[in-house]
Amino acid sequence: MDDADQTVAHSFATRAIHAGQEPEPTTGAVVTPISLSTTFAQDGVGGHKGFEYSRSGNPTRAALETQVASLEQATHGLAFASGLAAEDNILRLLRPGQRTLLGNDAYGGTFRLIAKVWSPLGFPWSAVDLTDIDALARDWPDDVGMVWLETPTNPLLTCFDIEAIAAIAHEHDAIVVVDNTFATPYLQQPLTLGADIVVHSATKYLGGHSDVVGGFVAVNDNDLAERLLFTQNAAGAIPSPFDCYLVLRGVKTLAVRMDRHCENARAVVDILAGHRAVERVLYPQLPDHPGHAAAAKQMSDFGGMVSFTLTAGREAAMTVADSTEIFTLAESLGAVESLIEHPGAMTHASAAGSPLEVPDNLVRLSVGIEDATDLVNDLAQALDRI
Ligand code: PLP
Repeated sequence: MDDADQTVAHSFATRAIHAGQEPEPTTGAVVTPISLSTTFAQDGVGGHKGFEYSRSGNPTRAALETQVASLEQATHGLAFASGLAAEDNILRLLRPGQRTLLGNDAYGGTFRLIAKVWSPLGFPWSAVDLTDIDALARDWPDDVGMVWLETPTNPLLTCFDIEAIAAIAHEHDAIVVVDNTFATPYLQQPLTLGADIVVHSATKYLGGHSDVVGGFVAVNDNDLAERLLFTQNAAGAIPSPFDCYLVLRGVKTLAVRMDRHCENARAVVDILAGHRAVERVLYPQLPDHPGHAAAAKQMSDFGGMVSFTLTAGREAAMTVADSTEIFTLAESLGAVESLIEHPGAMTHASAAGSPLEVPDNLVRLSVGIEDATDLVNDLAQALDRI
């Protein structure tokens, strides 16, 4: 897509509901149809109406691509079959020998893709502490092609200063990729802060209902867009029209959901911070949190993810994760229902033994949009078992 500009004058919540979603011209249907056709009739050879074959472009996908690109303040949006498919498409921009600098806390699957899939093919990587901007500038390796960061990170919720990192990376002609899955475009728009590429697991807050796996990439640079679009079509990791419809529908309510996620997260942080069993609460709003200043500068609120460590160690973390009733013990995040997990044994097991290994007394919460008092009471009864 490239027509996000037409709705950029409207505010976020309006664009979420209208960008790319004009009523269907033949019937007036207000809801974007799920276009299942894999092929599109041509008037004469080459005389198509914008769509030829559904891997290359599909009307439902185009609506989603316009919608989310508009929210990220991007000129181009590309939807993928999963967050990792989107990431893989981006990594194909690198030439063999070009290094990826990965922030030293990130989703385990991103680490696995960079370190275990791409690195053996001749694409080096290293983990770096991106909170230390001076060290980043001083110790910059010559071969860097890409800097890859999540902010806030999964699962420690560390925040990195996108503007400062992009300034250094651009001095060295490196591409800056920001995984905006945790913040969502409602709370943070990395392209406006100097990032070159935004990537999402649309499976999370964009979809918002734990019923679709998807990925998304947003860019403003035409050359990058062309190269990414080429690979999207050539490698073909595209989402189905139904999956596009589900994400499109989820994004319509992103603004109201995120407000409630943030509000509920604050209630949860309060009870955790006051409980004797809790060693440390990790939430970007807390003044002593790593990257709090960066979060306060570049996010409009602090999000719905909360992590914490237990003084009594791994077994205590396991007990809490196993003892909640409303928080469901499950992987994933970012949906209406609250989830709890033990990252070391679940989402981040693939990072064991690496610089991205997570503490074994860590518990991660995806705070949903249920009633805040019910969530607080549920956590309190689980923590009281320690
Ligand atoms: N990025 C982050 C921050 C994630 O948490 C995840 C999945 O948990 C991914 C990317 C990968 O996305 P997907 O599971 O949709 O492939």
